[in-house]
Amino acid sequence: MTLPFDGAISQYFENDAPKDIRKAIKTGHKDDILNPTYPYDEEIAKQDYKDTYEALQIELVKLQAWVKSSGQRIAIVFEGRDAAGKGGTIKRFRENLNPRGARVVALSKPTETEATQWYFQRYITQLPAGGEIVFFDRSWYNRGVVEKVFDFCSDAEREHFFTQVTEFEKMLVDEGIHLIKLWLNVGRAEQLRRFLAREHDPLKQWKLSWIDVEGLKRWDAYSKAIRETLYRSQSAHAPWTIVRSDDKKRARLEAIRHVLLAIDYDNKDLEALGAPDTQICGGPDIWD
Ligand code: ADP
Repeated sequence: MTLPFDGAISQYFENDAPKDIRKAIKTGHKDDILNPTYPYDEEIAKQDYKDTYEALQIELVKLQAWVKSSGQRIAIVFEGRDAAGKGGTIKRFRENLNPRGARVVALSKPTETEATQWYFQRYITQLPAGGEIVFFDRSWYNRGVVEKVFDFCSDAEREHFFTQVTEFEKMLVDEGIHLIKLWLNVGRAEQLRRFLAREHDPLKQWKLSWIDVEGLKRWDAYSKAIRETLYRSQSAHAPWTIVRSDDKKRARLEAIRHVLLAIDYDNKDLEALGAPDTQICGGPDIWD
């Protein structure tokens, strides 16, 4: 089997990955030893996941019914490093929703024309109409992180972005759009583990790009850009919620629960929603 990018992920793993990361993956240790603040040693139990997941799915269906009947608009931004679980989480949000009204926006890199427009312009056209929930799989926050790490924009352009982003989001919220910003946080060993799995799985190889391969070496640059972005774009009207995603299943439950708790839809069953796990999902202070 030919591996994508000539097996660059495996090569990085064998030759260049930090020793402790390589050891953790080889011995099957989970991130808790490398990512000491991750609160669990074990993944969530299957049955617990299933029961909670099903209860939350019913609430999501109620949320969509309310969005449609009252013409609400919801925009949920999913951010995070490559392989943090953005796509998988969005998939679980949408599993039982009417796809007409639960749209995913995953834009490619800007076209030549888009690159000449106001940076926010191509995202504005994707904002929800009445009755829609829009899931942004990456967003305008590319300018804060990936564009910085790969020099896709100048420092001046990035500074300009930071002077506008809070005001931009204020306009969306004042306009009546429910805006929720989620940052999925994955540890370094777990990210590499997922990349290796993608490299070897023909059904997942499409998820790999040269940015992932190059990004492996730029973990610290990403960390710096993320920290700065979270700090500079935190606001009372559009706060960040961090979801620790080393355990994908816990992350999915917490992300869904967070959205449901944040919005006052009809027939909300608070008991079914349960309490958030504040060790997995919380304010920017749980990012490390
Ligand atoms: P994804 O993780 O979204 O599947 P990639 O890891 O390949 O895709 O890229 C990460 C992000 O970087 C994407 O949102 C992509 O549009 C953006 N990107 C890639 N190349 C450029 C570029 N030359 N200029 C600006 N953004 C880019």
